[in-house]
Amino acid sequence: MDQIECVVIGAGVVGLAVARALAARGHEVIVLESAEAIGVGTSSRNSEVIHAGLYYPRGSLKATLCVRGREMLYEYCAAHSVPHQRCGKLLVATARNQIPQLEGILARGKENGVLDLMRISGEAAQALEPALQCVEAVFSPQTGIVDSHQLMLAIQGDAERDGAVCAFHAPVEAIEANNGRFVVKVGGTAPTTIIAACVINSAGLQANALACRIRGLDARHVPPLYLARGNYFSVSGRAPFSRLIYPMPNDAGLGVHLTIDLGGQARFGPDVEWVDSLNYDVDPHRAEAFYAAIRAYWPQLPDDALQPAYAGIRPKLSGPGEPPADFLIQGAAAHGVRGLVNLFGIESPGLTACLAIAQRVCELAGRG
Ligand SMILES: Cc1cc2nc3c(=O)[nH]c(=O)nc-3n(C[C@H](O)[C@H](O)[C@H](O)COP(=O)(O)OP(=O)(O)OC[C@H]3O[C@@H](n4cnc5c(N)ncnc54)[C@H](O)[C@@H]3O)c2cc1C
Repeated sequence: MDQIECVVIGAGVVGLAVARALAARGHEVIVLESAEAIGVGTSSRNSEVIHAGLYYPRGSLKATLCVRGREMLYEYCAAHSVPHQRCGKLLVATARNQIPQLEGILARGKENGVLDLMRISGEAAQALEPALQCVEAVFSPQTGIVDSHQLMLAIQGDAERDGAVCAFHAPVEAIEANNGRFVVKVGGTAPTTIIAACVINSAGLQANALACRIRGLDARHVPPLYLARGNYFSVSGRAPFSRLIYPMPNDAGLGVHLTIDLGGQARFGPDVEWVDSLNYDVDPHRAEAFYAAIRAYWPQLPDDALQPAYAGIRPKLSGPGEPPADFLIQGAAAHGVRGLVNLFGIESPGLTACLAIAQRVCELAGRG
């Protein structure tokens, strides 16, 4: 049996960031990833937006880790030449009855410490983006975009430079926790068992199921998981926008927004489709609802411009109709198992917050 100090399960952006942070603090780390490469889960199926931190309740983990993580991420991208752009975003009210909601988000953003938000008139917004239709807007200069794959490669590189090892085709099947010592059973093509003093469960959509396979962890500490697929459509040609455009959020998501990748290609989404399996196929029939949602802020969207692009699935801790849940990051103080940190419900803004989440995980693991 191999012995190692820390096992991180999952090589998504969060698991990699945790491995980097642990390795940088001098800890011995192995990342166990069931797939053949880094970032094949939710980390490569998202909007690649660096969020400012507008939407989340004050004091929540989503708010604090997003605001802190965003600044850390901009610094990291600049220092490591990770392609990114602080392009800004317009949050738009397309009808007068949406103005109270717009004002509510502006107030919440300020409470969260996003102090440079600017409320602007519909005309001022249209002066910035002539193709836009809206009656009022909030401009968020700190919102940006990042190449998530280049980011993960850079983080992996840092972690490996500091001694972390990434093992692929290494699915963790079960864990036994006993008095600060973990027996980690790994399946795949070369099954093995690893003894560790610290386990970080950063398995994204599988984190809840995996936590149920940790002997020694009381099942009441594992929350139920709900899956909400977010579908994206791309638009042929270049959309006439240089900033991100977000409508008012709805029950479960931020609304069908326009994001631009670093190549200038526009895409729309994600919508919210509650599902019960990890199927990433985009139903072309959903385009109809996309046309209606997009034309509320871009009336000139041409017919037949949208093509199904890709989908991601949010690991949600609240179901349909329930208020949004916060990230749930639990160490021994919450569940009683020394050396174990479980990360549940790491949906948006998990990409933005990854470096701040990693700091918090190190503290909870007693390795701050
Ligand atoms: C539609 C959508 C849009 C989003 N947009 C944004 C955005 O614009 N900005 C933002 O900040 N955030 C966004 N997010 C959130 C962000 O993408 C996630 O928070 C982040 O990618 C989560 O990373 P992760 O490492 O926790 O999970 P993942 O990337 O899913 O990684 C988990 C890894 O664990 C591995 N794994 C699972 N089980 C096991 C096992 N038993 N053994 C070994 N390995 C295992 C998986 O293969 C996977 O590679 C979005 C999410 C979605 C779904």
